[in-house]
Amino acid sequence: MAESLAECRSTDLCINCLDCVPACPAKLLPHYLYHFALADLAEQLEIYRVVDCTACGACSEVCPTGLPLARRIAAARAQIQAAVAASPANPLPPTAAT
Ligand code: SF4
Ligand code: SF4
Repeated sequence: MAESLAECRSTDLCINCLDCVPACPAKLLPHYLYHFALADLAEQLEIYRVVDCTACGACSEVCPTGLPLARRIAAARAQIQAAVAASPANPLPPTAAT
């Protein structure tokens, strides 16, 4: 998951206010998922249930520093889903990301 230098630096903008946590209707931890996505930590993304993200955008809307949470988390989710679908252990063909 290639990232621009500018976007990696944007992690510095998380002030850990946690406003994104209660805003998430899927009861995820958007600030964690965002950081995991930027660091390309697939195992952590799965553990913290990135696949449950509905890309609703609520986390991005409330973030006081304007981090692109929903966009990055949704991209990570799509990547995880594609990897799972392409796995030899999965007999189902890849499906289009929602
Ligand atoms: S975009 Fe995903 S992580 Fe953000 S609030 Fe919606 S469901 Fe939660
Ligand atoms: S709302 Fe933004 S600044 Fe606050 S914890 Fe979430 S990602 Fe960090």
